Amino acid sequence: MRDIDTIYIDGQFVTPKGTGTADLYNPSTEERIGTVRLGGVEDARDAVAAAKRAFPAFSRTTKGERIDMLKRLNAAVAARVSDLTEAMSLEYGAPQTFTRFAISHAASSFLTMASVLEEYEFERRMGRARVVMQPIGVAAAITPWNSNIGFITSKLTTAIAAGSTIVIKPSEMSAVQTQALTECLHEAGLPKGVFNIVNGLGNVVGAELSGHPDIAKVTFTGSTAVGREILRSAADTFKRVTLELGGKGPNIILDDADLEVAIPAVLRMGFINSGQACIAGTRILVPNHRLDEILARLQQEVETFKVGAPDDPDAMIGPMVSRKQYDRVQSYIELGMQEGANLLTGGLGRPAGLDRGWFTKPTIFTNVDNQMRIAREEIFGPVLSVIAYRDEDEAVSIANDTPYGLQAYLHGTDVTRMQALADRLDCGRVVVNGAPHEPLAPFGGFKQSGIGREYGVFGLEAFLEPKAVIL
Ligand code: NAD
Repeated sequence: MRDIDTIYIDGQFVTPKGTGTADLYNPSTEERIGTVRLGGVEDARDAVAAAKRAFPAFSRTTKGERIDMLKRLNAAVAARVSDLTEAMSLEYGAPQTFTRFAISHAASSFLTMASVLEEYEFERRMGRARVVMQPIGVAAAITPWNSNIGFITSKLTTAIAAGSTIVIKPSEMSAVQTQALTECLHEAGLPKGVFNIVNGLGNVVGAELSGHPDIAKVTFTGSTAVGREILRSAADTFKRVTLELGGKGPNIILDDADLEVAIPAVLRMGFINSGQACIAGTRILVPNHRLDEILARLQQEVETFKVGAPDDPDAMIGPMVSRKQYDRVQSYIELGMQEGANLLTGGLGRPAGLDRGWFTKPTIFTNVDNQMRIAREEIFGPVLSVIAYRDEDEAVSIANDTPYGLQAYLHGTDVTRMQALADRLDCGRVVVNGAPHEPLAPFGGFKQSGIGREYGVFGLEAFLEPKAVIL
């Protein structure tokens, strides 16, 4: 049993004053694997006070000192990649291919931000003014369960680079991996109070942080509904807010696509993290005249996506993270059938041979209209919708006809044409032909996918306030 009964405040592991607990589960077996003791409002306030005390000295550290800290954090996390991978796989049931990628990306994010910092000029001249970029103050970070370590590290690296201190409220469903990560971060020996990590419920610790008068900025990754609540509570004190919210990414196959290459890439990004990803390309847009050929290929390829537990090295799709998430995904599959979409593959229930665990069949609906709820709402599971289009203009209009605007995918052979098409898509990122993740480029959403950007210089500047000194 993994019983987690400490939180991290002012450079120390302490027992929370809050007395609530939450059970932790292995989604592959449905077994309880431990308990986390939850922090309460007082713990959130203690953490903010520690971060506030640490801020004056930390905000005066030099760029070189902070680069050194980022390198120490990288070394501490990189030294325990296998422990962190194991914790993440246990808690999410996610295939090791995914957790290994997520953890190594988390470790390298410290070095990526160090490289951004090396180049960044905190002072510049603008006309008669000397413009200084100042650290924003005490930040609060609130993260979701679906890739908790990655979100903690991306927010932490940026705060450190900027010279801001931070209080982090991770997902209460990710306590095992959070504990393992916190132990690594502690070993890096940063000044006390610079980062603080408080487990707790969203409507208790999260709500306290997003309304706390001493918090200057909230950086949140999670659902659009909770993002809206955070924005409201941040309004009273005009906190700076970065919101990374939901998505319903278009995965556009162009008429000149080489299906040998495109179909695996389409499904890889459709089923990423078992579909539990804001960036999943869940709407597959297909040219009408190639529909039959593409459906046949999709059906054939989906059979190569093995569903299984993390100890199965061939598994590419794991279980849903919780019973609640499993039920939600099942209800969307039912809804798709009621709405008149056809099942190309998958459907209700568990895949054959997997009687325990919150496993879902990878499911593809065809004959989907973009107005159906399965095409408009974020399902957060391995459920994809195929939508046919007539020509490029119609593809763009379907792609943009969504409340979201996070990440889109283009698959084709004419790169010049895809560059022009990318310019017409209303979203924060466009990935061409399955290109790998670029951690220096800004990440964030248009419309209801969020506000602001993370990563690279854009992410750094979201933790800074410009001040003009005019002589
Ligand atoms: P969620 O919104 O339910 O919870 C996210 C975090 O917010 C958790 O730590 C939760 O405890 C906290 N929270 C809940 N209520 C709160 C409140 N009233 N005040 C403050 N904090 C509160 O999301 P989830 O189910 O954990 O994660 C899935 C969602 O996250 C999906 O919608 C997904 O699209 C989104 N997401 C977005 C991105 C992105 O970068 N755009 C990345 C990953 C996940």
